[in-house]
Amino acid sequence: MCSVDQRIFKRLDEVKVMRDPIHGYIHVSYEIIWAIINHPIFQRLRRIKQMGSSYIVYHTAEHTRFAHSLGVYEIVQRMCYENKYINAAIDEKDKIIVMLAALLHDIGHGPFSHAFESVFPFSHEEYSVKIIENSSLAILLDSYSENLSKEVADIIAHKSNKTLLVSMISSQLDADRMDYLLRDAYFTGTKYGEYDLERVLRTLRVKDGKLVVKESGMHTIEDYIMARYHMYWQVYYHPVARSFEAILHKIFTRMKDLYEIDKHALDDVEIFKPLLENNLTLEDHFLLDEYACVYGFERLINHQDKIISDLCRRLRDRDLFEYVESKDVDEEKLASKLLQLGFDPRYYMAQDKVRQSPYQPYRGSDERGILILMADGKIEELSKASMIVNSLAKGISKDDHKIFFPREAM
Ligand code: CA
Repeated sequence: MCSVDQRIFKRLDEVKVMRDPIHGYIHVSYEIIWAIINHPIFQRLRRIKQMGSSYIVYHTAEHTRFAHSLGVYEIVQRMCYENKYINAAIDEKDKIIVMLAALLHDIGHGPFSHAFESVFPFSHEEYSVKIIENSSLAILLDSYSENLSKEVADIIAHKSNKTLLVSMISSQLDADRMDYLLRDAYFTGTKYGEYDLERVLRTLRVKDGKLVVKESGMHTIEDYIMARYHMYWQVYYHPVARSFEAILHKIFTRMKDLYEIDKHALDDVEIFKPLLENNLTLEDHFLLDEYACVYGFERLINHQDKIISDLCRRLRDRDLFEYVESKDVDEEKLASKLLQLGFDPRYYMAQDKVRQSPYQPYRGSDERGILILMADGKIEELSKASMIVNSLAKGISKDDHKIFFPREAM
């Protein structure tokens, strides 16, 4: 028997490997990591898609947060063991803590997060911390080392003073982005998201407790920034996926309005009730996955309320809203046209504005740009060291403002 604080170091009898199209294999050697992967709360991530609505445009973009979370874990583990500078900078216990944080960073996600969080006061970050600190996962973690649950949650919540570990999980050059760019590019069949992960991992260094990139690795980082820029505009912000999101948003809005008028209006779809009551317990959160949600929408097609029924049917049949540039449309005219056609604009007209700048030299007080370790040993922020990134950072961030409505009003 080993004491609780030694148990965290317990290794499996043999290394577990899982095949993965992005990393080749995912390697697990610690018992605690394997126990977390096999826990029902982690397994739930198999029922949440990584890209939400993008599968409606890119038909193979059906990969899950489960696969992505394993990928982020694998990248962090490679940072810890294959990069000798990081390996030397972090003790063994902190390596396990940061690998756990990688595995659990998305644990609080709900189904169709984007649309959900725009209607209900729900934040997946908040739930990630709640789940790690208060559910059966916390009991499991703490049985391997006292206070482990809190140490892991603090990394994810940016509360930890171990800034190197925090930046490996969440910064402009973190394992989260490194995995999702490659994974999303692979599963959408686009080439934009590709960059040389091997070289990024090889050129990472630690300087004064910070993660930096050595100068000769800078071109790979430029490529990574460009990959991100293209993926946003070509994939993540695709207007058809946003049209799907707009309908989801309207379904949740209509649900909320129906429930306010009559508390029994949605008795058929119990699964949404805790959300409507603004009382989503951890048990409710566990049950609320995309399968449950889709089943709920399916049932609502038969609802007597014509609006919710029609919106849910549109979602199922991919009878999505059309869209135009906001500047090209007179919204009042469009609203009255919709009314004439029998569409209540509150539920049939949506605005969506997205904005993205490819790289931010400074963001908030705790987040810095990517740091480059120059040949002379000095540290330069990326936009100062790279001409390409410099001009990108100076350029005005691009935005896209669209209006969505049923094609009948075209
Ligand atoms: Ca993530």
